[in-house]
Amino acid sequence: MKDDWLAQAREMHRRYPVVDAHCDTISQLIRGGRLGEPGSPGQVDLRRLQAAGIRLVFFSLFVEPEFQAAGSLRRALCLLDCFWQEYLALREQLLVVREKKDLAVVKAGRKLGVLLTLEGGEALEGELGILRQFYRLGVRGAGLTWNRRNALAGGIEESRAPGLSDFGAAVVREMNRWGMLIDVSHLHERAFWEVLEVSRAPVVASHANAYRLCPHPRNLKDEQLRALAARGGVVGVTFVPAFVAAEAPSVERVADHLEYLCQIMGVEAVGLGSDFDGTREVIPGLEDAAALPHLTACLLARGWREEEVGKILGGNWLRLLEHLLP
Ligand SMILES: [Zn+2]
Repeated sequence: MKDDWLAQAREMHRRYPVVDAHCDTISQLIRGGRLGEPGSPGQVDLRRLQAAGIRLVFFSLFVEPEFQAAGSLRRALCLLDCFWQEYLALREQLLVVREKKDLAVVKAGRKLGVLLTLEGGEALEGELGILRQFYRLGVRGAGLTWNRRNALAGGIEESRAPGLSDFGAAVVREMNRWGMLIDVSHLHERAFWEVLEVSRAPVVASHANAYRLCPHPRNLKDEQLRALAARGGVVGVTFVPAFVAAEAPSVERVADHLEYLCQIMGVEAVGLGSDFDGTREVIPGLEDAAALPHLTACLLARGWREEEVGKILGGNWLRLLEHLLP
């Protein structure tokens, strides 16, 4: 029986475009990983993405704390260069998604789409002009902070002045202007609400789960989920074990988060944001990108209709990007 669901899930992954809204694969590339080489040490490579029918993957630029003192901008540019170097070698197969029209290529499965995002605004170094330069270099989304406070806002670890700064608000408005995806994952709750007040466009959480099921500060409370949904945003369910369940995280518990988010937000507002290559700890059965059909099989076994599962697998992210991108 279980094998039947998995076979049906794999078949679905061939027919429906799948989107993963958060992978830290560029952090692997800068350490020598290769996208084009199967069996690279990370959790993501071209072969594994294709095996799961992934048509679009978000690759984030994460400036590790140890590089922030030496210059966040320098590190972010090195990460970006590292990606573009890899891209040159694989451009027959990859497409950096920058405009609406790129989504058609991706949906048709002609190329695998990559959407570049910043994880934390440290690299902006207080300048809107640097945000615009990142845009020109292909970046189409940004989370304002990682866990710690920066010049834009407070992260989940911040207790003092955790809100959005004037610069953070200016960044939100500038991102609205350019059609960039504003990501509230990792933000302190107070900054979260302030971003929602400032932004004129839908706001997303690319990788976060339901606080109600797993009370971790990285997860979102019901009223936050409702507010994101009411503004047309999408939340990507993440597979980081600590954000799934304090004890015995499993594929079933990830499915619980998906179901709960759909219950609170509606099935139009939920997607995937694995955090592959951003976490060493993995859930049994969701060890890498190629394992995604296990989650789909779980939903199908619970009686979900294919059409609903298709929205979660990628339809919702694609709809949002079609609305947002220039
Ligand atoms: Zn993250």
